[in-house]
Amino acid sequence: MLTEAHRQLLQALMGLGVVEAERARKLQRLACEAHRVPQEQLDTFIGTINMQLRPLSMEIRKGLAEEDGRPHYAVVNLAENGITQLASDYAENELELFKKTMDLILSSENGFASSTAILNLADQVKPKKMKKVEAEQLLQSLVQSKWLQEKEGEYTLSIRSILELEQYIFRHYPDMAHKCHFCHSLCIQSQICEDCGTAVHLHCLARYFRTQAEPRCPHCKQFWPHRVPGPVAHGPLQNHRLLRGQVVVPEVLQRWAEKVRNGRLALHGGDHREVPLDLLQQGAKTRRVLLSLGSEACKALLRDPFHCPWMTAIQSQKEDLEREGEPF
Ligand SMILES: [Zn+2]
Ligand SMILES: [Zn+2]
Repeated sequence: MLTEAHRQLLQALMGLGVVEAERARKLQRLACEAHRVPQEQLDTFIGTINMQLRPLSMEIRKGLAEEDGRPHYAVVNLAENGITQLASDYAENELELFKKTMDLILSSENGFASSTAILNLADQVKPKKMKKVEAEQLLQSLVQSKWLQEKEGEYTLSIRSILELEQYIFRHYPDMAHKCHFCHSLCIQSQICEDCGTAVHLHCLARYFRTQAEPRCPHCKQFWPHRVPGPVAHGPLQNHRLLRGQVVVPEVLQRWAEKVRNGRLALHGGDHREVPLDLLQQGAKTRRVLLSLGSEACKALLRDPFHCPWMTAIQSQKEDLEREGEPF
């Protein structure tokens, strides 16, 4: 039986399309408090909603975001053609451009399609060509409604698309769609073993390699030919067991964290909620504001310390400090 609290959560999830698990938990708590319903485990609570949804060919599905492995929930359509929700929200030619974007993403090596490549296809869509500016607006709208994710002018499928379109993609792209060796769900941003073709999510691989002495394929045990993905960039620093050869920046940051705790240093940035390091202690006395780190910058740093443009900024800050006689 659905209570009013179940209905309230369902409505909120449908409105949002996709939410992070943490936010879903908050929404559940609010709904339970508002309707004086005892709170239970979120997955149990959602299981009850799903029993009522499935006869309507819908389901709340849980999955991990590819970029950082965080759990999300999305309301998905189980209808046979699989692309129902998009088809009801977008015109035929817009849907076609989305499909062409999906072709580019799935046939790419890294799971991304450049905006230039997508916009170049705008005048090939049927039944009505799209102007570049219309295609740009469409991309924006797809990002806003969380079907696509944009990173530095490149587009990939977001967790909402992956949850909703997984079956569709496996059926329509049998040669290009890969299943992750560990979590068995569709993987778009993945690394693939050159010997046996095993595909793995970056975040699944990062977790696996943390327990291994050497980076080898989890299936055929050949040496892993790709750059080993960095630690998943969230949670306090002490929770990261860092990979060999990638400890430089986190070590530096740890020393900074020490100084912040002593009130000798403050880092500040745009969006602190997702800053992965436990650096921003409230009320710490500031001796020097070193560097402005937003959440994206922190993630980029932890993902790829050696190639991140922030590394240069950190290096120059470090040299400045050393010149002024403060050991780093
Ligand atoms: Zn996986
Ligand atoms: Zn292999």
